[in-house]
Amino acid sequence: MDFKKYFFSNGIRFECTQCGICCTGEPGTVYVTEDEIKKIADFLNIDEQKLKNEFLYPYKDSYSIKELENGDCIFYKDKSCTIYPVRPMQCKTYPFWLKNLRNEKKWKEVEKECPGIGKGKLYTAKEIIDLISKSPI
Ligand code: SF4
Repeated sequence: MDFKKYFFSNGIRFECTQCGICCTGEPGTVYVTEDEIKKIADFLNIDEQKLKNEFLYPYKDSYSIKELENGDCIFYKDKSCTIYPVRPMQCKTYPFWLKNLRNEKKWKEVEKECPGIGKGKLYTAKEIIDLISKSPI
């Protein structure tokens, strides 16, 4: 495949600073698969039903994560993600979502919101496209 046609053909640097900007504020949905639910429940040492009842709500064919009234993700506490090692694929693939990389103008907007962009590891165009394809949104 020829990646030269993409504005990110030379790759993009990104390293999450866990600033929380993308997990707080405006409400949103975070798709969580049954497999991810099991991993999060194991990580929190609670059973899956308790996790679903207290932290999730039905969304599409699975679940999404509840938010506080101010829109913050229920798992974002004390300035960090409390389930970071087992966070859902939607979180793992941010900011490399199709809707963010659809064109350079949109990406410039995302760059302003996410301080991790431009720092750290250089993701190649192929790695970015792999992440886009893994993201549920
Ligand atoms: S906005 Fe960017 S740097 Fe901040 S938590 Fe989200 S992905 Fe990480």
